[in-house]
Amino acid sequence: MDNQRKLIKTAMDKGNGVFRLFPTWVPRTFCVPGKRLKLHPDDYYSLGAHRGGIDERWFASTVNADNGPGTPEDEGLSYIFIEDGSQKEKVLLKETIELMGETILGKKVMDKHGGWAMFSKYFDNMQPLFHHLHQDDEGAALVGSKGKPEAYYFPRQLNNHSGWFPLTFFGLNPGTTKDDVKRCLLDWDKGDNGILYLSRAYKLKPGTGWDVPPGVLHAPGSLLTYEPQRASDVFAVFQNLVWEQVMPRELLVKDVPPEHKNDLDYLIGLIDWDLNLDPDFYNSRFHEPKPVKPLKEMKESGYEEYWIVYGSEYFSAKELTVYPGRSVKIKEDAAYGLIAIQGHGKFGALDIESPDLIRFGQMTDDELFVTVSTARDGVEVRNDSAVEDLVILKHFGPDA
Ligand SMILES: [Zn+2]
Repeated sequence: MDNQRKLIKTAMDKGNGVFRLFPTWVPRTFCVPGKRLKLHPDDYYSLGAHRGGIDERWFASTVNADNGPGTPEDEGLSYIFIEDGSQKEKVLLKETIELMGETILGKKVMDKHGGWAMFSKYFDNMQPLFHHLHQDDEGAALVGSKGKPEAYYFPRQLNNHSGWFPLTFFGLNPGTTKDDVKRCLLDWDKGDNGILYLSRAYKLKPGTGWDVPPGVLHAPGSLLTYEPQRASDVFAVFQNLVWEQVMPRELLVKDVPPEHKNDLDYLIGLIDWDLNLDPDFYNSRFHEPKPVKPLKEMKESGYEEYWIVYGSEYFSAKELTVYPGRSVKIKEDAAYGLIAIQGHGKFGALDIESPDLIRFGQMTDDELFVTVSTARDGVEVRNDSAVEDLVILKHFGPDA
């Protein structure tokens, strides 16, 4: 432990309160990779074909990926990366926070949340996912977990192609009854259970996003998606056939207590009926970026910054663009993680650059984590290109 503390201190000093994070790749057996993660084309099956293609990259994560038997014990977890002379070391972000949480996140966050309560990821699929929901606190507590809100943003830089189905089904059509959905669950083994007939899809637009509270059904479309979320991994799948691929009923009840696995009223009760049937669903949940300050003022200072994820008490996110050759000092109230999606320059004491091509297992200079006191003092962000923007996505936990 003393050695870990020493390494963490070295990393803190080198980055002036900013850690470098090592890329965290996650495969999924049920997905077709969209190949927009900047991974080398030969590396999408680096974890073994039997594990599925790599279609996610996780950021600032202290949560394990729940990929079933045979999953490496650190899958999904972020590591801080320490380079000291010729020595290269990694320490789990989770362990770093367990050892020095008050320094990294602040006392208030540690007292209230006991650690870093969110993470973000890219998901990158060619095909749409199943119509599913995430339990709220009440439903998740029965399986020892927490409710899970999530949100989407579609970065332009990573969406040069939009996959096979760039539309997301959300919610249920106004007028849908509980019996309608029960019938879908009863028909699980009889061919298409028809749940999507009860919903509608919205075309996804790069540079915008959606807010998805617990209990809202969603079948995510095929844009590469930046997804801040609460640190939890509960879900229930309501669609049995996805692009002719059969989904086992176990995916509906994996986070349901044994006594309720065949209880249709219980399963229907996981749905937040008000939110799903909201006749104004689009206006309630679709999010355009919002400037954090008057746009004119920011542009004159050489940058633009927007809230891209907002409205959840558990997380939020911003997109910062620094113009070519310019620099800006930005203060935040809380610790945060970040990923550079375009350009290169300096982030405080550290170099930052968005890579073009990453080999599996290779370090990158695009992901950082900013500790609370450094965030509050402010960090100078400098774009070293004469021609190209430097663009960074920043993810925050609760109470930021
Ligand atoms: Zn989801």
